[in-house]
Amino acid sequence: MIFIKFKLLASLFIIFNITLYASSQVQLVKKQNSDSNTTLLVIGGIHGDEPGGYFAASILASHYKVLSKNLWVVPDLNKFSIQANQRGINGDMNRKFSFVKDGDKDKEIVEDIKKIILEDNISLVLNLHDGNGFYRKEHQGNIFNPNSWGQTCVIDQNKLQQEQEFGNLDTIASIVTSNINKKLIKKHHSLGVKNTNTKFEDEAMQLSLTYFAVTNNKPAFAIETSKHLPTLSQKVFYQLLAIEEFMKVMDIKYEREFELNEKELDHILSQHGLLNINNNISLNLHDIKPYLSYIPLNSTSNEFDFSHPLGSVKQINGTFVVYIGNKKITTLRPQYFDIVKKSEKKFDVIIDGKLNSVDFTSTFFITDDFQIVDSSKFRVNVIGYRSNALSETGVDINLKNLDKNFSVDKSHKLYRVEFYKDGKFYDMAMAYFK
Ligand SMILES: [Zn+2]
Repeated sequence: MIFIKFKLLASLFIIFNITLYASSQVQLVKKQNSDSNTTLLVIGGIHGDEPGGYFAASILASHYKVLSKNLWVVPDLNKFSIQANQRGINGDMNRKFSFVKDGDKDKEIVEDIKKIILEDNISLVLNLHDGNGFYRKEHQGNIFNPNSWGQTCVIDQNKLQQEQEFGNLDTIASIVTSNINKKLIKKHHSLGVKNTNTKFEDEAMQLSLTYFAVTNNKPAFAIETSKHLPTLSQKVFYQLLAIEEFMKVMDIKYEREFELNEKELDHILSQHGLLNINNNISLNLHDIKPYLSYIPLNSTSNEFDFSHPLGSVKQINGTFVVYIGNKKITTLRPQYFDIVKKSEKKFDVIIDGKLNSVDFTSTFFITDDFQIVDSSKFRVNVIGYRSNALSETGVDINLKNLDKNFSVDKSHKLYRVEFYKDGKFYDMAMAYFK
């Protein structure tokens, strides 16, 4: 199944921000301008236990505007390994680019990303990783040495075989790392260029994504931030610095909605956004409880739509586990219902004594109390409100009437208001006490 989401953003240029969910589940976010063919392709999450790379790719996809030329982002190439926080649940995906066996569970993803890399407009490819230690040309102990991968810009060879734009890999990597080294948080975080000289010296790397790209005359680099950096925000900081330097090399103009520093990255990384389910439930993942029961879902198929690029769902033992990247956010235990197609957009509710018309699937805000206006159309169930009434309409409900065990959030302020019609589920709204 393929579905395509279009978001139009107003800007100096028209920017198309398109997310494709193909059958292989390669998610591709395109930030596209009509003025040029030059395109940077950034790939996050080929290894599931390297969150610096995929959280950086996700912030790039969600918090940057591209004002000239094009940026394509694959935030979570190896999604199921990311959920598991493992390098590769089906083996090392980055060793499958020369040859991949029939029946290999990664085959479809590998073939899809190869096709994307080979598209005519792709001018340069970045593959994001977190690596061990801190790379140094001289041996300075177990962590700082020439075998470390952390804090490097990795190239497979000095330059591409043919003369072409961005083909001088070594020159570009040197410019990028020396510019990053002017902005270090700590001096020992300095980045170096690591040339694996893949063709002659590194058989394993001959199977990698970047080597596949360079042998097809696509300039490609790996960015490796150190697994030994103390926080995720520091890893993401260096990843984004590197990506921005590459955008400068390629003359891609961009804007971001935040200052690039640890504090702001910490804040962004703590935001998990919204999860829309079947267009009739909208869960705010901020402060959500680790476990929610009796979520009205469809027994056959459900559509989960996240505002966060790293949002994903895994079905485990009859529950739906919700992830943002490698972070488990909540587990939903379903109660299966037939779902009625919505015919109405709004319902009436008296909030703090005043009549309001509120959108279905939205959150309404309360200071003291609310009352769902009685309507013969729906049976209403306010989850956590105890009553003997068949439908919980026509009564004032305040925070004291609600059982904290049934709140959606850990702060016990957010409660579910569920609408049913003829025994079928219609919609869930949310009541939030300010
Ligand atoms: Zn890696």
